Amino acid sequence: MKSSFYQYSFESLRQYLTDLGVRTDQARLLFNWHYKKNNITPCEINGLSNQTKEMIYSNLSFDLPVIDQVQTSEDSTVKFLFSFQDGKKVETVLIPFNQKYTVCLSSQVGCAMNCAFCFTGTQGLTRSLKTEEIIGQFLAAQTWLTQNRPDDDRILNVVFMGQGEPLHNFDNVKTAVEILISQHGLSLADHKITVSTSGYMPGLLRWKEEMPSVNIALSLHSPIDEKRSQLIPINRKYPINEVIPLIEQFPQGKKRFVTYEYLLIHEFNDSEEDALQTANLLVNTKAFVNLIPFNPFPGSKWQRPSDEKIKRFHEIIESFRIPVTIRTTKGDQILAACGQLKSH
Ligand code: SAH
Ligand code: SF4
Repeated sequence: MKSSFYQYSFESLRQYLTDLGVRTDQARLLFNWHYKKNNITPCEINGLSNQTKEMIYSNLSFDLPVIDQVQTSEDSTVKFLFSFQDGKKVETVLIPFNQKYTVCLSSQVGCAMNCAFCFTGTQGLTRSLKTEEIIGQFLAAQTWLTQNRPDDDRILNVVFMGQGEPLHNFDNVKTAVEILISQHGLSLADHKITVSTSGYMPGLLRWKEEMPSVNIALSLHSPIDEKRSQLIPINRKYPINEVIPLIEQFPQGKKRFVTYEYLLIHEFNDSEEDALQTANLLVNTKAFVNLIPFNPFPGSKWQRPSDEKIKRFHEIIESFRIPVTIRTTKGDQILAACGQLKSH
C-alpha cells in the first residue's frame, strides 16, 4: 500500500527523497504544487524530473479524507463529517468571518480526557489522527470552498479545537503545524494558528522544547482546583497551578497572549465569586480570556447562563484590565459549535 505524501514536513520530505535517491531540491516543487497551488493531482509539474515523478507517484498517495456529509447553517458555518481509510470519522468545521474562514480541526477520533461537559469526551478515545489526516481535513475543506464558494474561499486561521486533545497526539499535531506554516507549504502565519489544550502536561513539556511559536489556548473553566477537577478530570494529575506557570513561558514577542477559555455553566462556575477568583489568578499574566457559554448537546445535564450573568462575568474580568471576549456561538443550529462535535 502507498503511504501518504501529506505525512511529511518539508524537512522529512527532503530526507525521504534522499532515501529514494532523488534530488532533494525537488521537494520545494512538490510542496509548492500540492499546497500553494492546491493542485492535488498534477500531471505536469514544471521542473520536476521524470525520475522524481515516477518515484513519487508510484510510492506515495495523495488521497484526502472523503466527505461523508456536509451541513451548512444560516450563518454560513459549514460542518464536514470526514471519513478516513479505516472507516473512522471526525468532524471539521469552517467558521466564517468577513468572507474568510477559520477552520476548526480535529486531532483525534474521540478523546481520552473525559471532560464532564464535552460531547466528544463522552465517546472515549478511539484513536489519534495521523499527520496526513489532520492536514487532509484542511485541504479537503479548502477544496470544498474553492468548488462551492469560489468568491470567499480563503482559510486564514486554524484552531485545533475540534475533537480530541491535540497534545495527547503531539507528534502528528506538531508535524501538521510545521506543514501549515512552512513557507514552501501552506504558508500560514504562526500567529494565525491556535492549539487548544485541557492542560495535558506531558504535551506541554514537549511544547516548550519543540513546538513552533503558534498560539496556545488553555481550557481553564474554573480557577478553583476542586471545581476544575470536576469538569476536567486530568486537573487532578496536572493541577492548574503547575500548568499556568509553564504555559506563561510560551508566548514569544510583545503582542502575544495566552488564551484562557472559560466555559460558563449556569449555576456551576458563573458567579461573581468565580469571576473574581479568575481575575485574581490571571491579572499578572499574558491572559486573553475567551468566555464560552455552554453549548448543550443531546443528554447534557448543564445549561448556558443567562445573558445578564454572562455580561456580569465579562464586566468583572474587564475591570481588572484583562482583555476578555465572549465567544459568539456559530453553527449551533447544526451542532457544530464548541463541544458539540461527535463521530457518527
Ligand atoms: N481538547 C482541547 C481542544 C478541543 S475542545 C481542549 O479541551 O481544549 C475546544 C474547546 O471547546 C475547549 O475550550 C472546550 O472546553 C470547549 N468545549 C467543550 N465542550 C463544550 C461545550 N459543551 N460547550 C462549549 N464549549 C465546549
Ligand atoms: Fe477532550 Fe477537550 Fe473534550 Fe476535554 S474538552 S474531552 S480534552 S476534546
